[in-house]
Amino acid sequence: MSNRTFTASYPGHWRDVSPDDWNNWQWQLRHRISTLEQLEQHLTLTREERAGTLLTGSKLALGITPHFFNLIDRHDPNCPIRRQVVPRLEESAYAPEEMADPCGEDRHMPVPGLVHRYPDRVLLLVTDRCASYCRYCTRSRVVSGVGEQELATDFEAAFRYLARHEEVRDVLFSGGDPLLLSDARLENLLARVRAIPHIQLVRIGSRVPIFLPQRVTPELCAMLKKYHPLWLSAHTNHPKELTIEARDALGRLADAGIPLGNQSVLLKGVNNDAKTLAALCQKLLQCRVRPYYLYQCDLIRGSAHLRASIREGLDLIDQLRGHTTGYAVPQYVVDGPGGGGKIPLNPNYIVARTEDRYVLRNYRGDIYEYPEQNPEPVVLQHNRWKD
Ligand SMILES: *Cc1c(COP(=O)(O)O)cnc(C)c1O
Repeated sequence: MSNRTFTASYPGHWRDVSPDDWNNWQWQLRHRISTLEQLEQHLTLTREERAGTLLTGSKLALGITPHFFNLIDRHDPNCPIRRQVVPRLEESAYAPEEMADPCGEDRHMPVPGLVHRYPDRVLLLVTDRCASYCRYCTRSRVVSGVGEQELATDFEAAFRYLARHEEVRDVLFSGGDPLLLSDARLENLLARVRAIPHIQLVRIGSRVPIFLPQRVTPELCAMLKKYHPLWLSAHTNHPKELTIEARDALGRLADAGIPLGNQSVLLKGVNNDAKTLAALCQKLLQCRVRPYYLYQCDLIRGSAHLRASIREGLDLIDQLRGHTTGYAVPQYVVDGPGGGGKIPLNPNYIVARTEDRYVLRNYRGDIYEYPEQNPEPVVLQHNRWKD
């Protein structure tokens, strides 16, 4: 499978399944790979994967939709799709700098399930379930139902908080995956938020278009478009995830007038090379999705085997900027460990700076100078006055 072409996930391992069943999102959820036995029916696991899977019961559940599972290369344990969702023994090795709550969210919750860190926007955790579970999940302490904490969002208290806090103009539904809620439940939440006059914008963060594109039904899109302005951030890490099914699901959302962004996590062995990242970002544009953020992987426990270095991240952005469409270049960010929020990281284009000029480099490394504007053109005024 080429990184640049769109291919279908169906039927893959599921040759006996009818297209009707396959295209039914409830069928996809019921037939998720969630046990070691199911994994081993389809894949020959390495010892590390087998041991890692045995440990998932007390950490982060195993869950992979048939749709996403079909993208895994059966013969390659280093397959970039496989690394994201098949557990490995390394997950049980905790480095000293790693944390259960790497972004310090629990400390910024005025109401259980509502994270208010920035001045004008909040994160509302609407569910603890996802269609599939990413092994590097930053919220694995509460997501999937087997970790150390339980998500106990107090919705009524959250709506009261939002109504009282007029500075909040942007509410971001996250979780878990908000698009796993039923249409009726999601509509209820959207209507409650929309009823608050000072909320200008609602956003949804979801990996459903990638993990479970069947969920993006015409009915869901028709419901969502009643709550504009509504934006959605997808989560795609590798170009192979952009299947025909995912492209079409994103297309239905775009056709419903929902501006689409994408958040990627920089992951070792998944997307930490320039060719893969460029193919991903260009393919996203073909799906009418604007690459929004590239995240430095959070210091979540047991993620060392998936974390690339900041140096690599900066280098990758350097190899994108100027070399391809500006819209294809995401902002690289690190979430300040412990609760600093998103901090932008950028390659350095200022080579030197004096009081009266900047020495700059362009994307090819050529050098340019730009004079610093003097805030008060003193000499000029003085001369004119003298005339
Ligand atoms: C990422 C995040 C947001 C949204 O940030 P934007 O930069 O506006 O997309 C809001 N609240 C929290 C706690 C976040 O982590």
